[in-house]
Amino acid sequence: MTKYISLLIFLFTLQSVNAAEVNIYSARKEALIKPLLDQFHKETGIAVNIVTGKADTLLKRLEAENKNSPADMLLTVDVARLVRAKEKALLQEIDSKLLNEIIPKNYRDDDKQWFGLSLRSRVIVYAPDRVNKNDLSSYMDLANKEWINRICVRSSSNVYNQSLVAAMIANYGLLKTERWGRGLVNNFARPPKGGDRDQIKAIAAGVCDVGLVNNYYLAGMLESSQKSDVVAAKKIRLFWPGQNAHGVHMNVSGAGILKSAKNKKEAIQLLEFLVGDYAQKWYADINYEYSINPKLKNSSVLKSWGKFKADDLNLNLLGKYNTDALMLMDRVGWK
Ligand code: FE
Repeated sequence: MTKYISLLIFLFTLQSVNAAEVNIYSARKEALIKPLLDQFHKETGIAVNIVTGKADTLLKRLEAENKNSPADMLLTVDVARLVRAKEKALLQEIDSKLLNEIIPKNYRDDDKQWFGLSLRSRVIVYAPDRVNKNDLSSYMDLANKEWINRICVRSSSNVYNQSLVAAMIANYGLLKTERWGRGLVNNFARPPKGGDRDQIKAIAAGVCDVGLVNNYYLAGMLESSQKSDVVAAKKIRLFWPGQNAHGVHMNVSGAGILKSAKNKKEAIQLLEFLVGDYAQKWYADINYEYSINPKLKNSSVLKSWGKFKADDLNLNLLGKYNTDALMLMDRVGWK
């Protein structure tokens, strides 16, 4: 009987442990993170609830909900939104030895309010039958006259482009970046439209010769189950920009724990799980992103592109210059 009662108490305790949860507001599509959250649940018993939406919508919602928000964590696919959340005083400081050890200093907030979880590079892609690789060099050089009517890139409303321009401002200053912006826009083969994958397809179709995209879109198309994606991607090559300048522009997907968090301990546990070996290998193998942990190996597609010099700019600056970038893109006519 005593045994039976202890078993009941044990099961009851287990159930209360199981009741632990983390609630995420995520700008990352659920499919791209769900298997990781399931694994976290399997390992810890902590349930993860996820609400997905556009980053700006989620930020507005968090502001409106304020202290009453059910969310513990904000997850985004670009650093600018994390910085915005910090500026809106939505995030709290997290002191985790593990996070500080694994994530390089330039990929986490100086005030410990947000943390990069995976790395992406914004690269030049080109059509090898129409572009001599030796003619490519830096982002800066894409403003040169030789590229007139040859460049495809998505619109200025896209945060990846905003962050690239913010990085240019941080590296070269406003004046030089504005001159570059004018030259770049002048070289567009068509008004910006579509996503990064569409720029790759446009180059494959001969609409333009050169484009700017995040590395994982090209990798994803190369490994796609859709034949048309593979055919298009195979017509394209990747070029690492800025190897003799500042290096390749890098961005992070990342997260921060909200001030409203009712499950702070569990949320920290989840953050630490996401920078751990299992999750990091998943980011590389499935999402074709670079591991935030420099000690880990990357997927075979990423490896096939070889080593490159990354811009080691502190990503806090991408948030700092986001508004300047937006205004500059507007002034130079980047639609
Ligand atoms: Fe993306």
